[in-house]
Amino acid sequence: MSGKACVIGAGPNGLAAAIVLAQAGLQVEVFEAEPIPGGAARTLELTLPGFLHDFGSAVHPWVVGSPFFSSLPLQDYGLQWIHSPAPLAHPLDDGTAVMLERDLRDAEAALGGDGKAWRQLMSPFVEHWSDIAAEVLAPIHLLPHRPFLMARLGWHAVTSAKSLASRFRLERTRALFAGLAAHSFLRLDETLSAAFGVLLGATAHSVGWPIPRGGSQSIANALCSHLAKLGAAVNTSMRVENLSELSHYDLTFCDITPRQLLRLAGPRLSPSYQRRLERYRYGPGVFKVDYALASPIPWKAAECLRAATVHVGGTFEQIAEGEAAVCSGRPADRPFVLLAQPSLFDSTRAPAGKHTAWAYCHVPNASKVDMLGRLEDQIERFAPGFRDCVLARRVFSPADLESMDANLVGGDIGGGAMNFGQFLFRPTWRQYATSAKDIYLCSSSTPPGGGVHGMCGYNAARMALTRLGSVTRRA
Ligand SMILES: Cc1cc2nc3c(=O)[nH]c(=O)nc-3n(C[C@H](O)[C@H](O)[C@H](O)COP(=O)(O)OP(=O)(O)OC[C@H]3O[C@@H](n4cnc5c(N)ncnc54)[C@H](O)[C@@H]3O)c2cc1C
Repeated sequence: MSGKACVIGAGPNGLAAAIVLAQAGLQVEVFEAEPIPGGAARTLELTLPGFLHDFGSAVHPWVVGSPFFSSLPLQDYGLQWIHSPAPLAHPLDDGTAVMLERDLRDAEAALGGDGKAWRQLMSPFVEHWSDIAAEVLAPIHLLPHRPFLMARLGWHAVTSAKSLASRFRLERTRALFAGLAAHSFLRLDETLSAAFGVLLGATAHSVGWPIPRGGSQSIANALCSHLAKLGAAVNTSMRVENLSELSHYDLTFCDITPRQLLRLAGPRLSPSYQRRLERYRYGPGVFKVDYALASPIPWKAAECLRAATVHVGGTFEQIAEGEAAVCSGRPADRPFVLLAQPSLFDSTRAPAGKHTAWAYCHVPNASKVDMLGRLEDQIERFAPGFRDCVLARRVFSPADLESMDANLVGGDIGGGAMNFGQFLFRPTWRQYATSAKDIYLCSSSTPPGGGVHGMCGYNAARMALTRLGSVTRRA
């Protein structure tokens, strides 16, 4: 196919769109504002020399579970996956931790009295993960390929995490489920929150929650190398300020969010489409801290050292209370902290004997409140002496995050709120298409939303190519 396409933004979705377009034979150029490609999948020396920190994404079930990324030969470009012995640990105040084991049978055994209920909840999705992934990482289909399975997921989608968790008898299992569901940024008594928990739990058993050797930059680098092999160029330190700069391209793909599209493309878009974009809602932000550590984190429950991801927040009720505060515009007194400790399993992340940690909590969008004390109090609660291990820390407010990746509007890491309306129509009913025939949106503000899976970019590029008649429609 001939023609010239450009992509604004070299995040995972921009790179995915560029690869699909280049595979179809288009001449493709990518323009990235930052000096290093990858967007929120970059790894940088953020604290001390020799300590490599993931600026954004750290744990990657959605890369290995992505129908598109898993079809690419990324390992040929050096991408290596590391699975910690358990995907997830969730410490509790009694000094123990509830562990999420990767194998569903091991998880059943480890969860004791709730093991059977856990297996019954997860197994349909674990057994049919590849079918599920193709469906959930695509726009909503009225006629899904797996109607019964999708109906079951649909049932969870209208259920809240609070209601689903009531099927567990043990407080520890309910706490585990709360941590999974809280990734949704929703209140845990809200519709959709249960589906997030179920899907994320299912990925732990089906594809695992791996980390890439060297950090998330290894994913971006592998995508860029593959793109280069296909003949496409990534131009860094080139911020696009106005789409009129790109008028010589036949197609423009925007790995940016609606607010930015309005600024860059305003007059090229119809007034009604502009109004719809103006109504788009961003979700809560995050407050993030990267740590250089003198030693592993001194968890009271030593089994936490078996997992690359640790959910720090206590019981279901405590996590629910923190998330409810954030959703009503207040910072949580005892925030739910998502923590990754990659250097325990990947020695490339820190000098010998030293460690890194990555931690964030949810805050209201664009919040200016300093959460450092509260975030560290939560870690100390389950790992007394943590602060004594800190050699250096780098704190990112929502504004700091946005200054390093313009898509993180107000610190929102998901490209927009995942409420029911924006789950169905994201960012508008047109999804990837805009009111201008040659302009497409391909960021996480389109279906299926946040996470490093590249499926927003893949779906956007396929839609454009289908419209151009170059590919036959596939699911
Ligand atoms: C702190 C944090 C933790 C996260 N944790 C995880 C995790 O563990 N696992 C996971 O799967 N996901 C995680 N995510 C989410 C994930 O990183 C994002 O959903 C994903 O990166 C979205 O990809 P994207 O391509 O849509 O956007 P981005 O990755 O944000 O990329 C957008 C790119 O566009 C560029 N850009 C913007 N405007 C312009 C312009 N005008 N001109 C040129 N370039 C421009 C930006 O510089 C950026 O490089 C996390 C994100 C953050 C911030």
